[in-house]
Amino acid sequence: MLTLEDTSREELREVMDLAAACQSGGLDQLLGGKTVCLAFFESSTRTSASFELAARRAGADVVSLGEKDSSISKGESLVDTIVTLDSLGADAIVLRHPAAGAARLAARHTSAAVINAGDGCGQHPTQALLDLYALGGALGGFEELAGRRVAVVGDVLHSRVARSVIPAFRTAGMEVALVAPATLLPLECGAWRVPVLASVDEALDWGAEVLYALRLQKERMAGGSPRIPSVAEYAAYCGVSRRHLDSGALLMHPGPVNRGVEVSGDVVLDGRSLIPAQVAAGIAVRTAVLALATGAVHEVAA
Ligand code: ASP
Repeated sequence: MLTLEDTSREELREVMDLAAACQSGGLDQLLGGKTVCLAFFESSTRTSASFELAARRAGADVVSLGEKDSSISKGESLVDTIVTLDSLGADAIVLRHPAAGAARLAARHTSAAVINAGDGCGQHPTQALLDLYALGGALGGFEELAGRRVAVVGDVLHSRVARSVIPAFRTAGMEVALVAPATLLPLECGAWRVPVLASVDEALDWGAEVLYALRLQKERMAGGSPRIPSVAEYAAYCGVSRRHLDSGALLMHPGPVNRGVEVSGDVVLDGRSLIPAQVAAGIAVRTAVLALATGAVHEVAA
């Protein structure tokens, strides 16, 4: 599970269906006998906690490594770390790493299933899957996503979430537009063939039913260069506020939120915000991903 760029609609539906089965509690011990290694070499709250809960509740043995408490801090390479986890019998390695391409590199050095839990500005496939699941839950199911309009708003340039969620939304049949200043758009976005709009207001005029806000990723802005004239000006065009939700749009955000920047603080937990539902969806969806990636789902079926 390295990227969602080539994933089919049927594959997305398979994950959604299995996640629903996991959530309804019919698949206890789905990961019994499996060893899941969580290797998080960059900060995480939601992703690491929900992968750990997903693996433990489904009966897996779980090993957690961080950068500071592993031999990475002694200079061991990523490849040697992956080979070590492989030798210890890992069935799945869930990897978060600051370098784009790290998960693909890791997958070349292990027979364990490698699940990309975020690689630099690369991909974050399980985030996009849980977003589809949460949005489907709000709209009446996965099939209900087709034909809906979603605006992905903010720091697309530095966002691995954008690079996963845009293909995922499109494969689910949604129409996608971007809202961002030109300085926060990647060069490759021309090839995505999506409208680029200047403000959240324009996105609503375009017909957006869902506003998917991205975090302004200051830690990825090289040399501390902000790429925007000021946070206040950025928020005026790309910030989601109450008046936008009053139009009926739903709010999504992968977290963590810069309150008052990409989303005004008073709407983070509004009734039209799916942010808590996105987090909650992470456990069922990540259980499903672990079961599919390790083959556990087929072993249970047999
Ligand atoms: N939590 C997400 C990620 O790890 C989004 C973010 O950090 O802004 O990519």
